[in-house]
Amino acid sequence: MSEHVDVLIVGAGLSGIGAAHHLQTSFPGRTYAILEARDAIGGTWDLFRYPGVRSDSDMQTLGYRFRPWTGAKAIADGPAILRYVRDTATEAGIDDHVRYGHRVTRASWSGTDARWTVEATHGTETAVLTCRFLLVCSGYYRYDHGYRPPFPGIENFRGQVIHPQQWPDDLDYGGKRVIVIGSGATAVTLVPAMAETAAHVTMLQRSPTYIISLPTEDPIDARLRKLVGPRRAYPLTRWKNVLVTTLIYQLSQRRPQMMRNWIRSMTVRQLPDGYDVDTHFKPVYGPWDQRLCLVPDGDLFRAIREQRASVVTGRIATFTENGLRLESGEELEADIVVTATGLQLLALGGIALAVDDRAVSLPDTMAYKGMMLSGVPNFAFTIGYTNASWTLKADLVSEYVCRLLRYMDSRGYDTCVPVNDDPRITARPLLDFAPGYVLRSIGEFPQAGSRAPWRLGMSYVHDMVSLRHRTIDDGAMRFSRRTDSGKQAGPRSGAGQHAG
Ligand SMILES: Cc1cc2nc3c(=O)[nH]c(=O)nc-3n(C[C@H](O)[C@H](O)[C@H](O)COP(=O)(O)OP(=O)(O)OC[C@H]3O[C@@H](n4cnc5c(N)ncnc54)[C@H](O)[C@@H]3O)c2cc1C
Repeated sequence: MSEHVDVLIVGAGLSGIGAAHHLQTSFPGRTYAILEARDAIGGTWDLFRYPGVRSDSDMQTLGYRFRPWTGAKAIADGPAILRYVRDTATEAGIDDHVRYGHRVTRASWSGTDARWTVEATHGTETAVLTCRFLLVCSGYYRYDHGYRPPFPGIENFRGQVIHPQQWPDDLDYGGKRVIVIGSGATAVTLVPAMAETAAHVTMLQRSPTYIISLPTEDPIDARLRKLVGPRRAYPLTRWKNVLVTTLIYQLSQRRPQMMRNWIRSMTVRQLPDGYDVDTHFKPVYGPWDQRLCLVPDGDLFRAIREQRASVVTGRIATFTENGLRLESGEELEADIVVTATGLQLLALGGIALAVDDRAVSLPDTMAYKGMMLSGVPNFAFTIGYTNASWTLKADLVSEYVCRLLRYMDSRGYDTCVPVNDDPRITARPLLDFAPGYVLRSIGEFPQAGSRAPWRLGMSYVHDMVSLRHRTIDDGAMRFSRRTDSGKQAGPRSGAGQHAG
């Protein structure tokens, strides 16, 4: 017989540990387990080990609602975030529930039994567990490799080529010439960090990104911490940051030219006189059409001012023996090339879902409140915001799952399933966001819809109302219970239906 738990969580990263915390606090008597493919807790913050790895949003909103981030730094380094996630797990005894080295491959729902059967590869064996509710906190990208576009002539290059997702522990770049290909969050982190000891670091970008400088330590938070102490300051700074981030995002959407001018004026101030800002720091898209990059205390601009780093904007024609040749004919020499070219998206950790023996095709499903799937019973997933800290949404998803389970308990339901049978709803992409790594794979993800509750919420305040306070029984969510004979029955039975 396979082991049964009430709730099975997939993934022991920031989201999975947070979900477990919400669950065991709300239902101390309920059984749960976390299946984690890797041998450690921490997900992203354990995987990425490149120099300077850090958050690119403030820790007061990347931290959990239930556990104050008490560090002074608002932009924290990767090891500090990893410690925070692990300490959360250890202090609450969550680590005892983690089964390491278990990669979930399949999950099949049986309407007759009202339970999931979940298969995970564990070494050479297959572990099988059953659960009443399945909560997938698998992040959004592949762990085994990142994205690297095909580069002509790469085989001719005599130096080293490194992807940030597989950073060698022993890479010695001191005194070496480095080219970092890319202009996203990873590139702008790596360039100043490597420029501390490298001979020179060139950030080679095809096109520019919006980059905003923020103080590592938030002065308002510092004052609040002095006044009321770090724990009491946490929710205050968290709300301040939610509001400021929302304001910046809204202004970017409604007054893009004003925001362009504002970002440009800040950029110009941090660069040497006469610097070609238009070529290297003027994106063709509007602010927040892609994620804004943050640099703590303007470290990237400082490295440029001090001539330890430079930016080149152009397209690669080919790798050469000694570096790269651009389409413009310019040659760049390097000992090490870092391809900060992004992630490879992966929906739901690559798990194959089936409902009553029918395979679930993710692109044919619609995401309910951005966290459940049409036609897939007793199932939720965590995907955070693209325009604000991930954990804001992750906390709300966990809270909603707890509300849902409580609601079902109180009425004796054992199955819930979102059903979209409203003909007015049209499909939209799940991520309303246009960087290359999203466009490459968005077709493999579920869709969102044009109206609530299927509409993609990218506003924390809106989601807070919707997930924390709106009625659970909203018409789209259908509930049922098994009769004594084992068949599904109930006033609002929709279980097992596939509604797209
Ligand atoms: C370099 C980097 C920096 C980032 N910085 C920020 C930031 O500053 N702010 C922000 O909001 N977001 C940031 N993000 C996004 C970031 O991923 C989230 O903030 C957050 O860490 C995601 O947590 P998670 O637990 O949902 O996913 P992950 O951290 O990806 O963890 C998922 C876990 O699930 C496990 N898993 C996956 N599939 C399976 C499976 N099939 N079976 C079993 N286990 C599985 C993985 O091994 C992993 O441990 C960053 C991302 C990267 C890559």
